[in-house]
Amino acid sequence: MTEQAGDHERTMAFAEIALGQIKALRHSANPRNYEIWYTYATGYNPSLNAKINETLAQGGTLSDTDLEQIYETYLSPTRLTDRIDMVGSQVMDEIEQVMAMVDAAVGSANSYSESLADVTQKLGQSKDREGLRAIVEGLVQTAKEMEQSNQALEARLNASKQEINVLQDNLEVVRTESLTDPLTQLSNRKHFDTTLERAIADARTKNEALTLLLTDIDHFKNFNDSFGHLTGDQVLRLVAMSVKQNVKGQDTAARYGGEEFAVILPNTVLRSAITVADHIRRAVMTKELMKRSTGEHLGRVTISIGVATLHKGDTAQTLIERTDTCLYAAKRHGRNRVICETDPEIAAGTTSTQVA
Ligand code: GH3
Ligand code: MG
Ligand code: MG
Repeated sequence: MTEQAGDHERTMAFAEIALGQIKALRHSANPRNYEIWYTYATGYNPSLNAKINETLAQGGTLSDTDLEQIYETYLSPTRLTDRIDMVGSQVMDEIEQVMAMVDAAVGSANSYSESLADVTQKLGQSKDREGLRAIVEGLVQTAKEMEQSNQALEARLNASKQEINVLQDNLEVVRTESLTDPLTQLSNRKHFDTTLERAIADARTKNEALTLLLTDIDHFKNFNDSFGHLTGDQVLRLVAMSVKQNVKGQDTAARYGGEEFAVILPNTVLRSAITVADHIRRAVMTKELMKRSTGEHLGRVTISIGVATLHKGDTAQTLIERTDTCLYAAKRHGRNRVICETDPEIAAGTTSTQVA
C-alpha cells in the first residue's frame, strides 16, 4: 500500500469513529461537530479529549453549549496563527495600559512641580506662623499624593511584568507545538530540516563530527493490515519513545515521515552513532506489543536503521541521501539491522536510494 493509501485508511478510521459518536449522541453532523469528534478520534488534542470525557462522565451527553465551548476553547484558538495574533494583541493592550499609567504619572509629577513653585511663591509672601503651617501641610499632602501615585505605578509595572511573562510562556507553548509532531511528540519534519541545516553549519564551524540515523519500521504495512491503523499509530508512539529514550539532550529525534524517524547526532562519530542505533533497534525489538483495550497480543515489530556521517562537501540533502541508501541496504539485507556507509553491504552497491 502506498503512503497515500495508508493515510486514506487511517483518516477513514477516524471519520468512522467521529460519525459514530455523532450518531450515538444524536448531534447534528455539521462541520464544527465533525471537527470536534474527528479530533477526539485522533487523540491529538489530549485536553479536548479530557474535557469531553469529563463532560460525558458527568451528564452522559454533550449539549450544544458544551460543544460550542469545547470548540472555542480547544479548536478555534488552537490555530497557531490565531493564537500568535491573540498573544500579540494582548501584549499591545498591556503596553497601552502601562503607557497610560506613565502618562498619568508624568501629569501628576508636573502638577507636583507646579505646586512646589506655587509654594515657593507663597512662602515669600507668608507673614505669620499659621500661614506657614498651612503651606507646609499642603506640601506634605502633595508629597503624600505623589508617593501614592508612584507606588500605584510601581505596582502596575510589576503586574504588567508578570503578565508579559505569562504571555511569553504562552508564545513558547505555541512555538513548541509548531515544531512538534502531535502523534509522537518528537520534532516534526520542519523542525528536523532546520535543525539539520544548523547542525551541519555548527559541525563545520567547530570542526566536529555529525552523524545521522534514519529508521523505518519493518513490514509495517502488514502490521496495519492485520491490526488496523489506529493500533499502528500506537505502535508508532512506542517506537518514537524507544528512539527518544536512547538519545541524549543535544541530539534531535524527529518524525521524518509516516513510520520513519530520524536522529541528528551532533559531535558523534560513526562508530558511536552505530552503538546508539543498535540500542534503539534492540529497544524496539524487545517490546512485546499488547492492545490495551482488549489485551490482545500483537507480537513485536522491528526496525531497520541507516547511519551516515557528514563528509566534506555534503549538503543536508546528500547526507540524507547517503543515510537513506544505508537504510535501503538494511532492508535488502534482511531488515532488523543497522547498516552504515562503511559496511560491505554498501560497498557491494545498492542502486536505488528510495526507501518507502
Ligand atoms: P518495509 O519498510 O519493511 O520495506 O515495509 P513496510 O510495509 O513498512 O513498507 P513502507 O515502509 O514502504 O510502508 C510504510 C507503511 O507504513 C505504509 C503505511 O501502512 C504505514 N504508515 C505510514 N505512516 C503511518 C502512520 O502515520 N500511521 C500508521 N498506522 N501507519 C503508517
Ligand atoms: Mg517500513
Ligand atoms: Mg517507510
